[in-house]
Amino acid sequence: MDLNYPAEETAFREEVRAFLQEKLPKDLAHKVRQRKELTKADMEGWHATLNQKGWLAPNWPKEYGGAEWNAVQKHIFEEECARAGAPRIVPFGLSMLAPVLMKFGSQQQKDHYLPRILNGDDWWCQGYSEPGAGSDLASLKTRAVREGDHYIVNGQKTWTTLGQHANMIFCLVRTDPEVKQQEGISFLLIDMNSPGIEVRPIILLDGVHEVNEVFFDNVKVPVENLVGEENKGWTYAKYLLTHERTGIAGVGFSQAGLESVKRIARAESSNGKPLIENPHFAARLARAEIDLMALATSNLRIISQAAAGQAPGVESSMLKVKGTIIRQEINDLARRAVGPYAMPFPSESVEGDNDPVGPEYAGPVAAGYFNNRKLSIFGGSNEIQRGIIAKMKMGG
Ligand SMILES: Cc1cc2nc3c(=O)[nH]c(=O)nc-3n(C[C@H](O)[C@H](O)[C@H](O)COP(=O)(O)OP(=O)(O)OC[C@H]3O[C@@H](n4cnc5c(N)ncnc54)[C@H](O)[C@@H]3O)c2cc1C
Repeated sequence: MDLNYPAEETAFREEVRAFLQEKLPKDLAHKVRQRKELTKADMEGWHATLNQKGWLAPNWPKEYGGAEWNAVQKHIFEEECARAGAPRIVPFGLSMLAPVLMKFGSQQQKDHYLPRILNGDDWWCQGYSEPGAGSDLASLKTRAVREGDHYIVNGQKTWTTLGQHANMIFCLVRTDPEVKQQEGISFLLIDMNSPGIEVRPIILLDGVHEVNEVFFDNVKVPVENLVGEENKGWTYAKYLLTHERTGIAGVGFSQAGLESVKRIARAESSNGKPLIENPHFAARLARAEIDLMALATSNLRIISQAAAGQAPGVESSMLKVKGTIIRQEINDLARRAVGPYAMPFPSESVEGDNDPVGPEYAGPVAAGYFNNRKLSIFGGSNEIQRGIIAKMKMGG
């Protein structure tokens, strides 16, 4: 195993850095760093810039218009994007649905949907979770009954990220309630503008409208919107989840977060000295940094194995648990560093040009702390990941 970057990967990093320097709008990076709520236009604009360069779909094969990068290139790109303050690419169409369509979709579905995903014609959201079916996803109840050339869908999805912007949703639905849970689920593509769909906002702790509930009341869905075979949806759903977990360690975000905590701790004072010299704070910061260095090394090790053709298995659960613990610890350090400025958290501070309370660097701190509570819940909660690790590694 060689953890040094060879010359062509260093050159690639330089190329990414130069591109971000030239093309990432400064005001957009400022919004991302200050954790201001991004508009749909902000996200679509950055999406279009990357698409123009051919860098929007790192995972896609070239035949579909992807960049077909290897694991190391993707890692470098993610690291540089986090460093530069680029917006996160909305993953639902590009890195979740697209791989499922490429593997299991009909030719017609591939021809229709894949170019639309790249061009930003469709905004997809993910309709998996339901009230009562999160960790225990296979118990989902949203029902689809076939009537002629349509399914009639009734039920509810929840935690639907950015569903308020979406015109399409991919859904797991129950098509056979009589068989074992996993064997009666199908994978349907549903037009969000169909009569009978209602989207209701859920406002998160940071005051942001990021997730939604989606209700289905006798929604008619053409049978050609079924992906693969009826009642085989669980296989496709699991395949999609392996793609949801790529880049899960979040090393780039943590590195950027740690730099920002250091900046804050140099500016804030404690007992007449810079906070960064406070032994308690410095020890906690050092521990977070050491953990992050260890995570970055594990991440590179797993990536280099993946580059050599070994699919990550239980390792992705390990990266998820450790990566999210570190990100939340960095958020907590930032919150402690700004002290009272994290207390009067007005949710309006994430909107538009409203000024933060206190110095500029305090602006994103409370929002980041509150918003990132989600990291240990979504994408398979940390408790569930620990269960997987115990079972796979310890035979538990
Ligand atoms: C911000 C956010 C965005 C999301 N976006 C989406 C989205 O776009 N689309 C979508 O479909 N879903 C989305 N989710 C849903 C997410 O996948 C679920 O919240 C997650 O799977 C947990 O399910 P749950 O909320 O029902 O909690 P539950 O499954 O009810 O779990 C409650 C608690 O019990 C623990 N627990 C449950 N089972 C076990 C077990 N077997 N062993 C040990 N502990 C256990 C869990 O870890 C958790 O702490 C999102 C969630 C959040 C918070």
